[in-house]
Parts: sequence; C-alpha cells; structure tokens
Amino acid sequence: ALFITKRCINCDMCEPECPNQAIRMGDEIYEIDAYRCTECVGHYDQPTCQKVCPIDSTILADPAHAETNEQLWEKFVVMYHSD
Ligand code: SF4
Ligand code: SF4
Repeated sequence: ALFITKRCINCDMCEPECPNQAIRMGDEIYEIDAYRCTECVGHYDQPTCQKVCPIDSTILADPAHAETNEQLWEKFVVMYHSD
C-alpha cells in the first residue's frame, strides 16, 4: 500500500481518482486505507493517486504495509470477486 505524507495540501485531486475508494480525508490531511490500496494493481499500470498529486513525493510506499506484486493482485481479486 501507499501512504500520504504531511506534504499533502488537501487539494482533493487524488480522492476521486482512486479505483478502490481507499482515499479519505483524515483529521488533518488525506489518508489511504492500507487495506483497500492495491497500489492500483488490477486497474492501472501506475498508482493513479501519485500521478495526479501536484506535490512531488507526497504519496509514497508505506513501509508498514510493504506488499509484493502477487499480494497486491490477491488483494484486488478478494476485493472484487468475493460477495
Ligand atoms: Fe488508490 Fe491506487 Fe492510490 Fe492505492 S495507489 S490509494 S489504490 S489510487
Ligand atoms: Fe494531498 Fe496529493 Fe491527494 Fe492533493 S493529490 S490531497 S496533495 S495527497
């Protein structure tokens, strides 16, 4: 999963772009729900939130939720193919 650093300026560009509805406004800045973020695996070639974020190095890989490509695919499958 990715996470949003304190560089976030709450511009709201990323939230509507997330295919997994993983981004929400938190207490102070936008936050990513690590359990819903597949790093866009299954939807796009690159993390779309990173692509639309106007501030460089704001959305980064979350070291607390490091996942392999395989694990990200599994997450995608579980999210979209279970009832
Ligand atoms: Fe959503 Fe993709 Fe960003 Fe994860 S990387 S928060 S799935 S837009
Ligand atoms: Fe924050 Fe970047 Fe999302 Fe804008 S696009 S709300 S700056 S993380």
